[in-house]
Amino acid sequence: MTVNATLINILQICQRELWLHANSITMEHTSDIVAEGKQIGEESYPQRAERNQEVAISTEINGITCNAKIDFYDAKTGVVHEIKKSSAKEMAHVAQVQFYLYLLRKNGIAANYGLIEYPKLRQTEKVELLEDDMRNVERWVEKVDEIINQEMCPPPLPKSKCKNCSYFEFCWSGEE
Ligand code: SF4
Repeated sequence: MTVNATLINILQICQRELWLHANSITMEHTSDIVAEGKQIGEESYPQRAERNQEVAISTEINGITCNAKIDFYDAKTGVVHEIKKSSAKEMAHVAQVQFYLYLLRKNGIAANYGLIEYPKLRQTEKVELLEDDMRNVERWVEKVDEIINQEMCPPPLPKSKCKNCSYFEFCWSGEE
């Protein structure tokens, strides 16, 4: 299975969710994790959609095929824009953008930095990709590949971390 930005994003949240999603046990909208950015971006920043272009890229990382579709890439400045409807900043968002930057660079395309915009928070977070970050991306790709190909579903997180997960019923329906 190809590693994409959605899987990199979910890896930061829950390995069990990653495995369930990758094995097509879907009861929710995790496939929208990445796609939501485009819709929100077009609604919140119409001028952004005009200035930027969509880029589809792929590369191999340690023999693992990776691909991504970046909704807003500014070729003039080498900046990736990502828009999140979330009202909280998350490491998963940073990881997703670093994955984009990595794939762009591996394809010889300028990737200076990323900007994650949070319209609800009225904040913007700058995301860089330094040497250590590149190694992290490689580790994430290997970890995603390992988890999604394992036979058994990973154990659940502590229940307190599951409140907002759409797999909640799946993971905890047998509990009191
Ligand atoms: S309910 Fe909890 S353990 Fe289950 S997939 Fe979601 S976050 Fe992971």
